[in-house]
Amino acid sequence: MSSVSAWLRAHADLARIDCERLLCELPAVAGSALTPARIRAAPETTLSDDALVLLASWAARRRAGEPLAYILGRQGFRAFEVEVSPAVLVPRPETEHLVETALEHLTNGDRVLELGCGSGAVAIAIALESAARVTATDVSCAALALARVNARRLGAAIEWLASDWFTAVDGRFDLIVSNPPYIAADDEHLDALTHEPRLALVGGPDGLDAIRRIVAAAPDHLRAGGRLILEHGYDQGARVRALLAARGFVGVATRHDLAGHERITEGQWP
Ligand code: GLN
Repeated sequence: MSSVSAWLRAHADLARIDCERLLCELPAVAGSALTPARIRAAPETTLSDDALVLLASWAARRRAGEPLAYILGRQGFRAFEVEVSPAVLVPRPETEHLVETALEHLTNGDRVLELGCGSGAVAIAIALESAARVTATDVSCAALALARVNARRLGAAIEWLASDWFTAVDGRFDLIVSNPPYIAADDEHLDALTHEPRLALVGGPDGLDAIRRIVAAAPDHLRAGGRLILEHGYDQGARVRALLAARGFVGVATRHDLAGHERITEGQWP
């Protein structure tokens, strides 16, 4: 037996917010689930031995660098939560700007294609927040299976395609969006991302392999006036703008994320 406050003190090497999320994830403690308010108001609340065993295994996973989202099995994105597993990248807050940019350009009945949907978060958000018709692809069948489950639970109607970027895509779209793998193979940030699929993270030697493939083929799948919107690395804005301009896109522009980094670049096919 131990109190909530003693457990928090013993795990002060982990982020406090993560510890509180784990405590709130426990089955009922003394009759009801813990909440952040209850943790503050009653830190003397006793944790059972069963609860401590569960917490010990979660804390060990977190300490080993596993994302909290994999431990909880879910991640918040826009107004909903998606189920996540190690088969998919954990949706990041900066990717919400990809959705916002897409929504600004959409009108009813537009056709949207998402390339590399992972958990399905982006496609689901666009389907739920607009009247567009959404198609989403991934090369990973495990990712597609999870995305389908998420979409069904959230009531998003999406057409799913197993496709290596455009290989299985037919027809033309008003908007193509993607958060492709864009980290360079030797980037030191990868050391902190060992639990997520490399396929969803690494974009070749300079990180831009997937973006080059998408930019090259997107015009074959865009209507005149349609747009391509890409998420990219914090230091890739100038190179992505140059790739789009060289391919013939116009109105090429980049938006920053909340950390102030260039993050989303779009171009229009004339
Ligand atoms: N934004 C992710 C990160 O830096 C990378 C996602 C990606 O490669 N698409 O952790």
